[in-house]
Amino acid sequence: MFEVKLNDEEGRVRALERLGVLDTEADTAFENIAALVRQVLKVPMSGVSLIDRRRHWFKARRGIDVQEFPRELSFCSRTIDQTGAHIISDARIDPLYADHPFVVGDPSVVSYVGFPLTTPDGYNIGSLCAMGTSPREFTSEEVDILSNFAKILIDSIELRQTASSDVLTGAMNRRGWMTEAKSELGRAARYKQPVSLAMMDIDKFKLVNDTWGHPAGDVVIAGLANLNMDMVRESDLFGRLGGEEFALLMPQTSPDQAAALAERIRSNFEALSFDINNDTPISCTVSIGVTHLGSEDDTLEQMLERADQALYRAKKGGRNRVVFSNE
Ligand code: GH3
Ligand code: MG
Ligand code: MG
Repeated sequence: MFEVKLNDEEGRVRALERLGVLDTEADTAFENIAALVRQVLKVPMSGVSLIDRRRHWFKARRGIDVQEFPRELSFCSRTIDQTGAHIISDARIDPLYADHPFVVGDPSVVSYVGFPLTTPDGYNIGSLCAMGTSPREFTSEEVDILSNFAKILIDSIELRQTASSDVLTGAMNRRGWMTEAKSELGRAARYKQPVSLAMMDIDKFKLVNDTWGHPAGDVVIAGLANLNMDMVRESDLFGRLGGEEFALLMPQTSPDQAAALAERIRSNFEALSFDINNDTPISCTVSIGVTHLGSEDDTLEQMLERADQALYRAKKGGRNRVVFSNE
């Protein structure tokens, strides 16, 4: 069994962000579990709650009107501070909850049971909960059911992760990246925020494979991916588009900032050396094409096309360089 880390809020929030479920569209798997919990526990309200730094946000809910509220108000925020179920049998006589606005006012919560959603690396990112408007006990059998549903939820969140991530590098794969990048671009266009895009391709990579073998090539590919994942911001989207080709979407990043970051990636990669067979360290370079979101009707495909043209010019210009697209 893994150890549950209850006192690492930074790590917890990062784990939640990594899973990429926060603020996503409704999803049948989660809806079904919320519905089952309500049915099996015979309660009027149930929810799949995710707790971020400041908010309680419902990934799915039944019998509850609001999508989110401040974390201080959340019963589930207590659930995630512990291992195992958090149970309130009668909130009206519970000193912690008697004056709570959700108890004295709408939706008149009286009973509550929540079970933490614990990631495989041991972070409680949220809770699966059931609430009633009259006092009641929750049996150990009911808690068991809740805990099993919580496991199913975590498994399915994890599964989504692996389906959209690349095995060699752990970066998003093409499909995952395209989906995320499209929604990010939509958001940026709506809020008229700058977005930049970089495409990178390792130089003369065939030579690495031919000289040192395919496994050595894999090490170099993973090296560039790790470098990127270390250097970019949490909000940046980094993905492996295929082979030794990667894309980086940078929300809220001006063309100048994007070009500067690309240049740092280029020079840091050039400085890396890979110890393949213990005697000959090998190093490689990367070429990068950069572009940014133009007008509101600019599409991801058009941006990729422009970044690719810039990348092509970087290759033509002698490789190991960053080129900005000329719209
Ligand atoms: P250029 O500087 O023009 O980019 O030259 P290049 O040799 O890198 O040319 P290109 O980008 O076309 O070569 C990509 C090579 O990457 C071809 C393919 O065999 C190899 N490759 C693709 N996927 C993988 C992989 O997962 N592992 C390894 N080791 N090699 C791969
Ligand atoms: Mg290539
Ligand atoms: Mg290449």
